[in-house]
Amino acid sequence: MMKIEPSVKFEYTCTSADCELRWTDTCEVISPRIDALLQNGVQDLEAIATQSLERQHHRTRSTNFKGCQSPVHAEVLLGPVVLIEIDLLADENMSKVGKASPHNRPHSLKEFPSMIALFGQSMRLAGVVGFSDHHYIGYGRRMSGYWEVYNDLAKKKALPKIQDDYQVNPYLLGYV
Ligand SMILES: [Zn+2]
Repeated sequence: MMKIEPSVKFEYTCTSADCELRWTDTCEVISPRIDALLQNGVQDLEAIATQSLERQHHRTRSTNFKGCQSPVHAEVLLGPVVLIEIDLLADENMSKVGKASPHNRPHSLKEFPSMIALFGQSMRLAGVVGFSDHHYIGYGRRMSGYWEVYNDLAKKKALPKIQDDYQVNPYLLGYV
């Protein structure tokens, strides 16, 4: 995969004037806890993705500013595209949670939240990557709300339009 801009960037600065401590941390793809997704479903994506970022945030801060007594200022910057891994079906042999979960199944495109807010910034769903027959297929959501399919195995050049009740095996969501 090519190097893309991170989904989220954290910039930390110690607020003390005598302290030089600074740290930058990035998250390429947000990987929310799969068991939380399986438990609550994708309608809870905003909260589950936020938790995942807050965990990283917390870890970075406590690791890199250990000796620091002063408060640390954190700036959270969202990239032009925020990618969220949502590999619900990868989890077949997992846990009781996976087996019992009503969310461990293909989803129709309209089930993914069309808007989410992370750190107070709201973004719209612009695309979904699905997995099918050992192959990834992209689904783009236009501003007008209709969906197009990007499948490099398809023979036809024109992008077929599909309805939002179309079923996919979700792998990655992209918000802009
Ligand atoms: Zn400091």
